[in-house]
Amino acid sequence: MHLSLPQPITGRSSFEFLTFASLFLSFKMKDVRVRFAPSPTGALHIGGVRTALYNYLLAKQFKGTLILRIEDTDQTRFVPGAEEYITQSLAWVGIQIDEGVTVGGPHEPYRQSERKSIYNEYVQKLLDSGHAYYAFDTEEELEAMRDRLKNAGSSNQQYSATTRMIMNNSLTLSEAETKKNLEEGVNYVVRLKVPDDEEVSLQDLIRGEVTVHSSQIDDKVLIKSDGMPTYHLANVVDDYLMKISHVIRGEEWLPSAPLHVLLYRFFGWENDMPRFAHLPLLLKPDGNGKLSKRDADKMGFPIFPLNWTDPKTEELAKGFRESGYLPEALINFLAFLGWNPGTTQEIFSMDELAQAFSLERIGKAGARFDIQKAQWFNQQYLKAKSDEMLTEYLLNSLRQENITCSTEKALKICSIMKERVTFTQDFWEHGKFFFHAPTSYDEQVIAKKWNEDAVKVLTMFSQEIIKTPTLSANLAKELLESVTAKLGIGTGKILQALRVTITGNASGPDLMMTMEILGKEEVANRIKHALQTLKTV
Ligand code: GLU
Repeated sequence: MHLSLPQPITGRSSFEFLTFASLFLSFKMKDVRVRFAPSPTGALHIGGVRTALYNYLLAKQFKGTLILRIEDTDQTRFVPGAEEYITQSLAWVGIQIDEGVTVGGPHEPYRQSERKSIYNEYVQKLLDSGHAYYAFDTEEELEAMRDRLKNAGSSNQQYSATTRMIMNNSLTLSEAETKKNLEEGVNYVVRLKVPDDEEVSLQDLIRGEVTVHSSQIDDKVLIKSDGMPTYHLANVVDDYLMKISHVIRGEEWLPSAPLHVLLYRFFGWENDMPRFAHLPLLLKPDGNGKLSKRDADKMGFPIFPLNWTDPKTEELAKGFRESGYLPEALINFLAFLGWNPGTTQEIFSMDELAQAFSLERIGKAGARFDIQKAQWFNQQYLKAKSDEMLTEYLLNSLRQENITCSTEKALKICSIMKERVTFTQDFWEHGKFFFHAPTSYDEQVIAKKWNEDAVKVLTMFSQEIIKTPTLSANLAKELLESVTAKLGIGTGKILQALRVTITGNASGPDLMMTMEILGKEEVANRIKHALQTLKTV
């Protein structure tokens, strides 16, 4: 597609805003019917999840209907498993589909490859009314046309109003010749006859008025030589037949919107044209350019909701779910990528989002994909969970590691770690020392803090704790303080040495509670091991 992105010809004035608001409000009266229409060409990109989310929120707010339509007319890009991946991803993040491939509905089928006869019927109407034509050009003829135009210095080498009359199509051939070609099974496509000189405008709910001159639009193929419709035809026909009220989709489709407007007009469906809302692009974390999978890979964060194994390369891309994100945190994060509530509130449940959401509050500017913000949301959602729920994450990880642990112990671990975790697996990843004694010690701490004083305190401390019936956090603290007092060494000076002895790490959760959880024998053993190993360092 060589169309340059149409720019709004005017900004949104307050008058326009009123018109825009009332246009939108008039829809409140009507049924809100929106659709998420992915193509099963691979894993669902996180931007697609945001598109699905905004559609879902609008439907939910207006008690409307969200449709899941699979746009699989490009057989060359079809990837097995992609459709299932899409439905599983939506289910994981909590986006419920009201009508569509998984649930059925009054406009079945919802998979475009199964609707071929419908598109043929509609394209015939365009052929009959003269808004479309058959084109028989071979690849060589198309190439020759492009070369000729290029050599003549033309910047525009499209099949369009300026070129169509020198090509091999039903506009240049006689009726009899066209008929003969069709009867003989000559390869053909059906193209839209785009008017040569007029402004095509639409009112986008996010970008305001968008106008493109028809000379910028080529005579798009509507039916391909394999008999399948192109995206443009199928998309417009289905949006009309499925009574879609709002088309909410990524900005990359904005250049196609004027073409769709022409299709609505040629079909005579102008009064039923949906409202368009083209969502801002998702940008790289530094705001420089569109976010791609490669950027995400380079920066080490996921871009797909769930794990995805590319069926061709067998390469595994880790999903948000498997990276330890909670679906509600991801949803909250995505909702803010382009939209804001106009208040300082940041934490929103799905229901709250549905209440607060409005297309008017979506910005035009690209939204920076700030992965740290996603992590922040995840932390907030983890912190808000009960210890009992968090324990499940830890116990899950432990089961995978074949480690048994009492619920009581898991509860204690989670309650002291919850302030420090970002991801669900962090309870295990950052809390391994609760289950395995350290095999190495943080070198910096050792270099700075492992000294004779530390050795003295730790030796006496381990002798003392072993004498106690059970080691509680309070008791550990008391004993440590009495030992340091006896030896005349400041407690603060040896705390890090003690921590590294017990956990191997320079930092971690509350040390006294950590010792309570480990128990006196384990603590004493760990100290003993450190005293033996580190003496020789
Ligand atoms: N099939 C298109 C896609 O995968 C849908 C675009 C639209 O929503 O119109 O992005």
